[in-house]
Amino acid sequence: MSRVYNFSAGPSAAPEAVLLQAQQELLEWRDSGMSVMEMSHRGKHFSIIAEELEADLRSLLVIPENYKVLFLQGGASAQFSLIPQNILNGKTKACYLNTGAWSDKAIKDAQTYCDVVVSASSEATKFTTIPEASSWTIDHQAAYLHYTSNETIHGVEFQSCPDSQGLPLVSDMSSNILSRSFDVNQFGLIYAGTQKNMGPAGVTVVIVRDDLIGHAPKTVPPVFNYAEQANNQSMLNTPATYSWYLVGLVLKWLKGQGGIAAIEQANISKAALLYQAIDQSSLYSNPVEIVSRSRMNVPFILADESLDKQFIAAAEANGLFELKGHRSVGGMRASIYNAMPEAGVLALVEFMAEFERTH
Ligand SMILES: *Cc1c(COP(=O)(O)O)cnc(C)c1O
Repeated sequence: MSRVYNFSAGPSAAPEAVLLQAQQELLEWRDSGMSVMEMSHRGKHFSIIAEELEADLRSLLVIPENYKVLFLQGGASAQFSLIPQNILNGKTKACYLNTGAWSDKAIKDAQTYCDVVVSASSEATKFTTIPEASSWTIDHQAAYLHYTSNETIHGVEFQSCPDSQGLPLVSDMSSNILSRSFDVNQFGLIYAGTQKNMGPAGVTVVIVRDDLIGHAPKTVPPVFNYAEQANNQSMLNTPATYSWYLVGLVLKWLKGQGGIAAIEQANISKAALLYQAIDQSSLYSNPVEIVSRSRMNVPFILADESLDKQFIAAAEANGLFELKGHRSVGGMRASIYNAMPEAGVLALVEFMAEFERTH
């Protein structure tokens, strides 16, 4: 067996310790006599898994009591439509910051349900910047302000929580949740698919302040109604039980690493290594303004595009996989989520230097 360094944007590399534990527990979980995937979601064993999952997420992110934590299906993409349906609360407008491909999708889907006010857009810079907060046009009649805290495709990340000028703040944290510290109290709603930084695909975490829910129109199907799911421990339908379990293992692994503060330090040094390698070279470049560079997804282009194929092939020969950039941006992209060890980033920067020397 030879596991490679996997730089995929998602589904993405998982901590090896988690995979080994899942392997070890595959046939029998604790003393239950069965595999987690065979358990009733309402049985006593799965109830323990579900309770520990929520408790571990609450403790890692310091989620206050007045926030509900939901584990839903449909990915972050479903939330693009479900957020306006659930929390417009009679309002007709919502504000969105447009900083890349994912916020753009969120905007398009929300337009079915409300008037979207694009408070700011960095489209003019091809999504390589975050517009100055002083230039945003916030509509105070809007139900909320939505932004994408990390643009997975463009490699742009907010380094602090934006000022929503009193509107409930809604954030798509799919690709940087659990990677850095933030104060949940500053948010109305946070959502994230699990397949970037929390484990396998199949679960979408929604953390929502309880005063924002409970007013969705009857046209919203119960399984997509936040209040209904909150009242039913996210088990209005059969949840993705095995994915819940795996996410739970990732959270326990993260606690073992020292929690968010410790992983944030590791993420800072991994990203610094890679950006330094890019900035010092004359072959590679990253187009994002320095203050908005993502710690999680690092796109870079080669000065000579005709070398792209050779770069990918040579990287794979060196055990470095999934470096091809998103088709809309081109070039390369290295996703270095929590589970990517520093050794993987070191191997990548060494390979990049060697490739530059020989090309
Ligand atoms: C991956 C991603 C999504 C889409 O997630 P799905 O689970 O495929 O719906 C949405 N937003 C961001 C920021 C992402 O990285």
